[in-house]
This record gives sequence, structure tokens and C-alpha cells, in this order.
Amino acid sequence: MTLRISGRTKLAGIVGKPIGHSLSPAMHNAVYEELELDWAYIPLPVDDETDLMRFLGAARVLPFVGFNITMPYKQAMLSMCDEVAMMAQMAGAVNTVHVVDGRFIGYNTDGRGLVESLETDVGFNPESKHVTIVGAGGAAGAAAVSFMLGKVSHLTIANRNIEKAQELVARLQAHSRGTEFTAIELFAAEEHIRASHLVVNATPIGMQPGDGSPVPLEWIHEDQVVCDMIYKPQPTELLVGAQEVGATPVDGLGMLVAQGAIAIDIWSDSAQIRTPRETMRSAAEQAMRRMHTGEVDG
Ligand code: NAP
Repeated sequence: MTLRISGRTKLAGIVGKPIGHSLSPAMHNAVYEELELDWAYIPLPVDDETDLMRFLGAARVLPFVGFNITMPYKQAMLSMCDEVAMMAQMAGAVNTVHVVDGRFIGYNTDGRGLVESLETDVGFNPESKHVTIVGAGGAAGAAAVSFMLGKVSHLTIANRNIEKAQELVARLQAHSRGTEFTAIELFAAEEHIRASHLVVNATPIGMQPGDGSPVPLEWIHEDQVVCDMIYKPQPTELLVGAQEVGATPVDGLGMLVAQGAIAIDIWSDSAQIRTPRETMRSAAEQAMRRMHTGEVDG
């Protein structure tokens, strides 16, 4: 990849902590080059919310087209935008900011990215399906909004902390047209998980070796799609178990790629281009392989 910075180069980047292992710079810069966009995507490590405010002050006056927000600032960013799209409001988190004339417009592309990945990677259409999301944090909220808009018949939120699952369901129910919701404690979710067409892991369980699976593998069966939002070179224990029983496994790389591509569509006024997902996926895969073989330090 050739680095081309001109006097007119616009900025984009990812704000979070830690972000040393983010795949976003590799996948964004690869596609900017292919699309001949005079943009550069950089890591923007921010230590705390005070520094986040300082960064936002700078981003209003520097030539940013936009930026992504990752853990732990997705929820905080909601109240720091000048305008927030309805999907991000419902999700309770912003992962993409479009900078327009120094104003911040907040979006959430995680849920749309997940639904796009499920459709393109395994042909899963959420309409009239029962879906269980394990977890009730920012990514679960974004996914839940997109499944609700995708007209699932039943959405179960299974979480360790039942209050967080109940809060998410209460926030969504106000906007629902025809979706039945259940908030349930994770340990009690067997019946719901068995009855689901799709089970999504939206917890970090499986990220570290020896983590195990977020749900007992006996609850998974062959008629299901099982999606883990986690992406890494080796499949998680949940996905290995899903494969073994004949279910259809999907990892989180397609979601990562699609949420990033949708952000570029937003920043570039999507009527003009459709960001090539394949370029982003192969750049992300290459960066992930380099990180895991120790070729680069994050
Ligand atoms: P988050 O807001 O911190 O939420 C984490 C959720 O996981 C909470 O519901 C939490 O439950 C649950 N959890 C954490 N540790 C647990 C444990 N030991 N046992 C049971 N439940 C546990 O995180 P997030 O931003 O939603 O991210 C969740 C996962 O999705 C992460 O692995 C992240 O990397 C992944 N993700 C992937 C993509 C992608 O593009 N592929 C995008 C976004 C996120 P409690 O409420 O009980 O604490």
C-alpha cells in the first residue's frame, strides 16, 4: 500500500482505549486507496472522558470527515454529538460520527453491519425468526435494534445481569411493531436458546484462550445459525461447538467489515459509492494474521 498524504488529505480514525490491536486502520486505508479517496485513517488513543472532550474540540476544527468510536466510549459519545440518528439513540451507543461543518452527527453501524454480514455470509434473513442475543451491552443493543427493524418475531436478551437485559428491552419495546421481547438471566435461557433460529454472542467470553463458551454447548443444535461477534484467527469455543453439532457458525469479522464499510458510505454520501467490502475483509485478515504471528506490534 502506498501512503499518499497531500495538503488536502482529510482525516478519519478510531477513538478508544486500548486500540493498538484495532484492525480498522488497515481495512479503512486499504479501501481509501482503492477508491482514490484522499483520506487517512489513524488510531486515536484517548485515555479518559476528559481527553475525549479535548479530542472532540480538536476534531471540530481539523479536517475530519468522521471517526469511529470503540470501547469504552460508545455510550459516552451519545451525549457528546450535536445530532444522533434514531438507530443510535435506540441502541444507546454511537460507533460512527460524521463531521459536517464542525458538527458531530452520531450513528450506530454495528447492528446494520451484523445483519448485513448474516445476510451475505450465510443467507440469514431475520424476518419472522426467533433470535437470542447473549449480552446486553453496547453491541447487543445495536444488534437488537437492527433485528427489531428486521422484523424478528421474538427477540430474547439473555444476560448475566438481568436488570441490564430488562432496561434494553424496555428501551426497544417503545418502538416495536410486532416483535415479542423477553429479558432473561443467562443461566435460565435454555428454552429460549433451543427455540431460536439464531443465537448471537455479544459478550467478550471466548476472546481469551480457556474462556469456554458463553452458553452450554448442549443448548445448540443443527437447525441454528450461531454467530459470535468475536473475531480472531482461531474460532471461539462456541463456534467450534456449533460446527460440531451441524449448526451454521459465523464469526464477527463480517460484522466488523460491514460496520466499517457502512461508516465510509455515510462519510462519503452513500449515493455516490458502495464501499467494496472484499477489499476491507482481505486487509483486515492480513492485519489480523500479522498481529497473531507477531510480525507487527499491534
Ligand atoms: P459491553 O458493552 O462491555 O458488554 C459486555 C456484555 O458482556 C455485558 O452484557 C456483560 O454482562 C457481558 N459479560 C461480560 N463478561 C461476562 C461474563 N464473564 N459472563 C457473562 N456475561 C459477561 O461490550 P460490547 O461493546 O457490547 O462488546 C461485546 C463483544 O462484542 C466484545 O467481545 C466485542 O469485541 C464484540 N464486538 C464485536 C464487533 C464486531 O464488529 N465484530 C462490534 C462490537 C463489539 P453484564 O451486563 O452482566 O456485565
